[in-house]
Amino acid sequence: MEKAERLIDALEAAGFEAYIVGGAVRDLLLGAEPSDVDVATSALPEQVKAVFPRTVDTGIQHGTVLVLTEGEGIEVTTFRTESGYSDSRRPDQVAFVTSLTEDLRRRDFTINAMALTKDHIVVDPFGGQSDLDNRIIRAVGDADERFREDALRMLRAVRFAGQLGFEPEQATADSISRNADRIQAVAIERIKIELDKLFSSRHAKKGLEFLTESGLSRYLPAGRLFCRDWTRFPENQPALTGWAFMLHDTYAGFDEVRAYRFSNDERRLLQQILAAVREPEWTKWTVYQYTDAALAAARLLAGVETDLLRLKSELPIQSKSDLAVSGLDLLEWTDHSRGPWLREWLNFIEQRVVKGALANDKQQIKEWFLHEYSNHQSTG
Ligand code: ATP
Ligand code: MG
Repeated sequence: MEKAERLIDALEAAGFEAYIVGGAVRDLLLGAEPSDVDVATSALPEQVKAVFPRTVDTGIQHGTVLVLTEGEGIEVTTFRTESGYSDSRRPDQVAFVTSLTEDLRRRDFTINAMALTKDHIVVDPFGGQSDLDNRIIRAVGDADERFREDALRMLRAVRFAGQLGFEPEQATADSISRNADRIQAVAIERIKIELDKLFSSRHAKKGLEFLTESGLSRYLPAGRLFCRDWTRFPENQPALTGWAFMLHDTYAGFDEVRAYRFSNDERRLLQQILAAVREPEWTKWTVYQYTDAALAAARLLAGVETDLLRLKSELPIQSKSDLAVSGLDLLEWTDHSRGPWLREWLNFIEQRVVKGALANDKQQIKEWFLHEYSNHQSTG
């Protein structure tokens, strides 16, 4: 915050207006820590660059310059309006304007359309403060118009309902129902970001109920997965736990949500969570197979009584690399050369150690191994 204030000082000293805007103002007024601070200014991008020695052109065609100060990057955006969302995705045109109010007018919801001077005076032309007090999500201006400009805003309304526990104002909610089908035109990457934020939110059930009741979910990929009762949805959990909930309860597999283009890491973790949720028997050995994230999700979603994370932490080893022996040791103890047998025996040792049938001690493992190995050799 202080860094943003000093940045505003510098812009003002150069003769420009500058304010903290958007989500950061909302979060500060709610007494929450803003996730990031955005600054809006009357200075044009080139003028911003002239004031600060270190900047990066992150979105200069949209008026955004990243200013690097005091070891941090703060996005500074020239006052602007947007027009012509012919593809419901991105404004066709961005026009720089001189008035802060014009810039605030293009923002999605009144609670996101306030500005703060460096002396903490709130600039609030659309009644954001009062909507914040009344816990209401209301479109700035005509809701139909705003959702037709950019259909993603409908999903953002749902996401903010989930994050803040706010109610959508009636005209805004009605407009979402009317325009729901337009969400189909929005790029899947933008939709996925909002759904992830919704799934991990504190009041996710509230947001999800709104998502379903408004009819918006019918037009999302895998829409059928949203037709359900949300009472058991795990709130305030990682987003992937929410995705797993959706798939688990509907007996669906990962393929159903492939359209959301998960990263490879996300896909692997989601598949692992699903396998854990569907794990038929929890033993030391099965617990050992899963990451902590998958175990935590399985407990929540499958209602497992056992503290799986604790069970795992009490295992003699957490992974193969914790074993007191390696493949090299086995090679040294036998006259055998490298081959698939090495991995098989290591796996065998790993299983016995995890199950507690063999201590994770080099000498004891060696004795057990040599005994078993010679038996094995003599029996063929
Ligand atoms: P978060 O805490 O998730 O960052 P945020 O409100 O800061 O929430 P951002 O996506 O970071 O959301 O956007 C910053 C600001 O830009 C918003 O507060 C809003 O004023 C404006 N904004 C963002 N996306 C849109 C949009 N699709 N249409 C209109 N205004 C938008
Ligand atoms: Mg933000």
